[in-house]
Amino acid sequence: MKKIIVTGGLGFIGSNLIKLLLKKKYIVLNIDKITYASNFYNVKDFQNHKNYFFNKCDLNNFKLLNSIITKFKPDIIFNLAAETHVDRSIDSPNAFIKSNILGTYNLLEIFKNFYKKKKKTKLIHISTDEVYGDILKGRTNENYPYKPSSPYAASKASSDHLVYSYYRTFKLPLIITNCSNNYGPRQHPEKLIPKIIFNLINGKNLPIYGNGKNSREWIYVNDHCDALIKISKNGKIGNFYNIGSNKNITNIEICNTLINIAKKKIVTNSKIEYVKDRPGHDFRYALDSQKIIRKLKWKPKTTFKNGIKKTFDWYLRNLEYYKNLSKKDIELRLGILK
Ligand code: NAD
Repeated sequence: MKKIIVTGGLGFIGSNLIKLLLKKKYIVLNIDKITYASNFYNVKDFQNHKNYFFNKCDLNNFKLLNSIITKFKPDIIFNLAAETHVDRSIDSPNAFIKSNILGTYNLLEIFKNFYKKKKKTKLIHISTDEVYGDILKGRTNENYPYKPSSPYAASKASSDHLVYSYYRTFKLPLIITNCSNNYGPRQHPEKLIPKIIFNLINGKNLPIYGNGKNSREWIYVNDHCDALIKISKNGKIGNFYNIGSNKNITNIEICNTLINIAKKKIVTNSKIEYVKDRPGHDFRYALDSQKIIRKLKWKPKTTFKNGIKKTFDWYLRNLEYYKNLSKKDIELRLGILK
């Protein structure tokens, strides 16, 4: 049975990935620092599973992380641990530099030593489409230059560059993935889709940045996790893989879709409220994911129509999810320059 480390497994994508890995009979160790973005509700379905283990650890704690990795001897590491909210990166970039850049550097140094002892191992570094910056037309493939716009995107871009440099220089078995916007169960309501759902359920207005026409490529989280597992098995070392659905939707369309879903399930008085735009807000991201589709025979299975309904239903069925989160972290508007 393969042994897997998932970093950042108390967060959104990490917890969904662990659920899938356990279903596929892997042994999984979750390493997480436990930040405001962590939620133990995310792991409640499998926290007593015999193949699931958890260690609290910051990627920057060299000694502890080194001993955890050396002892566990993973076949694969999925690195998802990161600060992830663009608005927070505008107010306080420091945590992003520390976790996303220095944390990744620390992990790479540990992995470099670990690889000397165990050759049959690899590390998959999970990144984002935001590193390519604003894409007003067309779609970006893996050869497109990085041009990040926010401190978050810049910190992810830096970490991707570091990972690639460790592949080139030290010949380590590393792969980088760039995925588009994820949605689904277990995402912190600071992010657009779970925020709109939270506000609809609680009868609050629905804040939309700027004119609402910003466009993102949305992928259901399980499709992303499925792609990550495929890449860990058949992906080529030293390669970048884009992971997207090829489906762009504007923020206002998302909001209207959720209002229509909510109307069928609950009584809600929430209204759309246009609010001040995010500084430096990218207008559009769009990936060309032909490489993973052609070379690894992966494709997303969930249509937006089905995925968004499943997502709304999950939050409605799991109101307990919100209990572990601070009201301030859900409601406070961040990232406006004063
Ligand atoms: P999240 O914010 O929900 O979870 C991140 C987790 O990482 C949290 O539990 C947090 O405690 C942990 N963490 C942060 N800093 C850490 C550190 N220094 N040491 C250990 N743990 C730490 O994030 P998410 O949305 O699940 O994203 C996971 C990864 O996927 C990130 O690297 C993100 O950049 C990438 N990604 C996210 C999306 C998306 O739409 N959410 C899209 C593409 C890529």
